[in-house]
Amino acid sequence: ERVLSSEAMDHDISFEQSLRPQMLSQYIGQDKLKNNLEVFIKAAKMRKETLDHVLLYGPPGLGKTTLATVIANEMGVDIRMTSGPAIERPGDLAAILTSLDPGEVLFIDEIHRLPRAIEEVLYPAMEDYCLDIVIGKGPEARSVRLDLPPFTLVGATTRAGAVSAPLRDRFGVLCRLEYYTIEQLTAIVIRTAEILDTDIDGDGAVEIAKRSRGTPRIANRLLRRVRDFAQVRSNGVITFALADEALELLQVDKLGLDQIDHKLLRGIIEKFRGGPVGIDTIAASIGEEPTTIEDVYEPYLLQIGFLQRTPRGRMVTHQVYEHFQMEVPCE
Ligand code: ADP
Repeated sequence: ERVLSSEAMDHDISFEQSLRPQMLSQYIGQDKLKNNLEVFIKAAKMRKETLDHVLLYGPPGLGKTTLATVIANEMGVDIRMTSGPAIERPGDLAAILTSLDPGEVLFIDEIHRLPRAIEEVLYPAMEDYCLDIVIGKGPEARSVRLDLPPFTLVGATTRAGAVSAPLRDRFGVLCRLEYYTIEQLTAIVIRTAEILDTDIDGDGAVEIAKRSRGTPRIANRLLRRVRDFAQVRSNGVITFALADEALELLQVDKLGLDQIDHKLLRGIIEKFRGGPVGIDTIAASIGEEPTTIEDVYEPYLLQIGFLQRTPRGRMVTHQVYEHFQMEVPCE
């Protein structure tokens, strides 16, 4: 049973909504990005203009959707949310664009999954706030230009590399979200505990933070699970000892790695002598989709130096052998 990584993808929307910071001042971490955005938002408001289009990129659960909402709140406008896979035909996108209120934020999650033909509808919309539609067929066909209200597009993607260059170039602001530090995650855990009306001490919060893979979504999820243990197994207070015991039972190790990470890393060691091995081969050997590995598991393993990307594939590092208390093989 998966307790951790899969949840970085399937999220419990109402739980997450209730925890979302509403304003920049409540948004913890990502300081450089926040400072820049603050300036852009202030400047746009002073000029009474819409904010430039913003592309947010980074691994799942780092706060892209949250930041889109915060941007709309700071601008004092509404937000419309959709996602790349939800828009199937150019007409779907045209319908959304023509129904926006002036100044509104349009959030498109997983924007790298927009089909190219639909993406092309976005280009004139982003550049000139207009739509080019073709009416009729064959020799009768003609193109009509429709004006749109000014709007801000906020796009989010887990893979900046998968966004086409023409689309990327039309964003005025590109923001890369970074993994959070233990201190920032501790602050997020404490904030969430307050909202959930849960007692937690400093060491308990730090322990959950340490095992959250740098990711607020995971920190909140782990807190919720640990809170159940605290309620059932003790007096409801989350201490270090309780968090440690609960996370052990949930099979989340000291570094926040779960069974899938273990399967992946051990698989590379046991079946491929530590690599290098191609991502498709790894994926097939552990029964996961290559894109899931690339988007969800691998970024954190690269970040903590457990995996290396080489031209011939992925390799585990010595640290992995040490983490599993295995003997490091001779070269
Ligand atoms: P993404 O869109 O990048 O997958 P979300 O914006 O949905 O991530 O964030 C996931 C959860 O993490 C949300 O419930 C939100 O409450 C929490 N979260 C994300 N970033 C922050 C932050 N900077 N401060 C506090 N909570 C955050």
